[in-house]
Parts: sequence; structure tokens; C-alpha cells
Amino acid sequence: KSSDIKMVDAPAGVQGEGFFATKLDEVVGLARANSLWPLPFATSCCGIEFMATMASHYDVARFGSERMSFSPRQADMLLVMGTIAKKMAPILRQVYEQMSEPRWVIAVGACASSGGVFDTYSVLQGIDKVIPVDVYVPGCPPRPEQILDGIMELQELVKSESVRRRSSPEYKELLASYNIS
Ligand code: SF4
Repeated sequence: KSSDIKMVDAPAGVQGEGFFATKLDEVVGLARANSLWPLPFATSCCGIEFMATMASHYDVARFGSERMSFSPRQADMLLVMGTIAKKMAPILRQVYEQMSEPRWVIAVGACASSGGVFDTYSVLQGIDKVIPVDVYVPGCPPRPEQILDGIMELQELVKSESVRRRSSPEYKELLASYNIS
């Protein structure tokens, strides 16, 4: 009888998600996290630290991110490194808009995160004024270890992200707040 059927609560963390969808999220997240192709948007000194991060000693290839993408269409992770002048902001935004979903952004160093020491009329006081940012790496400049730490932080974020997040109303709302469709 239907009255004999007892409903069991789903384990913590998977309420509202089917078992298959939850496992699929985990597999897709793992694959995405270990193959993040970077687009280095380097305008000044922090970019030099990224060159060291790519070289053999720090070896960003260990994280599956050695394949630089200078085409936004084939990049997953936008790394913004350096001072962004206000005149440069529309170009940064255009590059972001040209990336396909899923896309993530790391602000590397003080200038990209907040304008850094350049608290002046011509410098953007943080790239999150024009595009959404997922991870901020502090430092002026950050050492390669810190950049790697930022990439690892992003990997954790990517692993825990639902494959459906990009079509969620919350994500669309976030983009709308930046006037990005
Ligand atoms: Fe240069 Fe410091 Fe700005 Fe990085 S944070 S671009 S090292 S001034």
C-alpha cells in the first residue's frame, strides 16, 4: 500500500539533486578543474611573475594549465595581471565577453584586485568594477607560489560548482549586474 512507503531524507549536501546529477557534477568538476586553460591578460610587472610560474621550476603544467590560450574562445580562466588603466577596461571586458561558458577570472596582484598603489584618476580601482572575479591573489607582486595558490583555490571552486550553475537565475543575475548578457 502506498501508505506503507516510508520516505528517507537524502544525505546532507545532496538534497534536491538526484544521485546521477550529483555524481555527474563531481566528474565534470574534476575534469574541468584539472584542465583550466589560462588566458594571461598581463599589462605590467605581475605578468613577469606569471612567466616564472609557467617555467620549469614552478611548472604550472602540474595543474593542467600549461596550455596558454591567446584566443578568448578557447580559454577557461582569465588571469588579469597588472595595472588596468580605465582606457583599457573596455578591452578587458570585451575579452571576458568573448570567452565561452564556463569561464572563471583570477585577479592577480594588488593592481588587478584594487588598483594597488595607483590610486589615481586614470586607473581602474579593481577589475571587479567591470567583470566578475572568482579569486583574488594578494601581493605586489605576488610570488609564483601565491599565483599557484590562487589557481588551486580556483580548482576547488570549479570542483564544487554544479554543472547547472551557469544557467541558474543567480548566475544570470550576477552577469546582469555587470550589464553582460
Ligand atoms: Fe606591479 Fe605591484 Fe601592480 Fe603587480 S601589483 S602590477 S607588481 S605595481
